[in-house]
Amino acid sequence: MASDVAQAITRNLDQIQQRVDQACVDADRDPAEVKVLLATKTVPADRVAVAVQHGYRLIGENRIQELTAKDAVLAPLNCERHFIGRLQTNKINQVLRHVTCIQSVDRLDVADKLQRRLEAIDKPPLGIFVQVNTSGEDSKGGVAPEDVVALAKELVWFDRLRLKGYMTIGLPSHDSTAVRGSYRKLREARDEVAGAGVEIAESPELSMGMSGDFALAIAEGATMIRLGSAVFGSRH
Ligand SMILES: *Cc1c(COP(=O)(O)O)cnc(C)c1O
Repeated sequence: MASDVAQAITRNLDQIQQRVDQACVDADRDPAEVKVLLATKTVPADRVAVAVQHGYRLIGENRIQELTAKDAVLAPLNCERHFIGRLQTNKINQVLRHVTCIQSVDRLDVADKLQRRLEAIDKPPLGIFVQVNTSGEDSKGGVAPEDVVALAKELVWFDRLRLKGYMTIGLPSHDSTAVRGSYRKLREARDEVAGAGVEIAESPELSMGMSGDFALAIAEGATMIRLGSAVFGSRH
């Protein structure tokens, strides 16, 4: 990798951090409440390593092939890897080898398969987020907002899973009011679960916001923003 590529990544991260801090000030929030997760699909491992060494230790991968391929470089770096892609149940064994959290749980049968597999290999509890479809698009994964409480009620019974928060992919739109509205739905889902007396993590995460709209997500309460192209450049 050329050194100017590494420089661009660290410069991007520093600029993003300033924008995150500003978005927090604007939203009257503490910047310490907002974590950056590197969304690293299609990004070669050596570039991801540059960002990790610059202090960003939270990584999200969408594809099992990439988790496996980048393992040799990333596993020794003491970073935390999450799975943020669509989960195929026949790939669960492989995913579990590499991640400590799966953010894309949206069905009971997936949770059931995870629980059984974790029991079989006697692994400690895995973090999970409930993915919520806040944009109403059929193409997107996620449980409908009105079904989150019912799903959360079931998920807390799995002793090898720890429900730690919620994830959504926002509405892809230039209408910032509409985008914010989709992020608001995730916050409301979190509040509804809490209001229903379902006890999950102490401060549940809201994983929402991407390169083009993270300030809107921060305004709606995001605690984890998932950034790819703003850090690593556009994907071709
Ligand atoms: C690719 C991806 C992101 C990051 O997208 P950018 O627009 O490149 O920041 C975030 N979340 C998920 C689930 C993704 O697949």
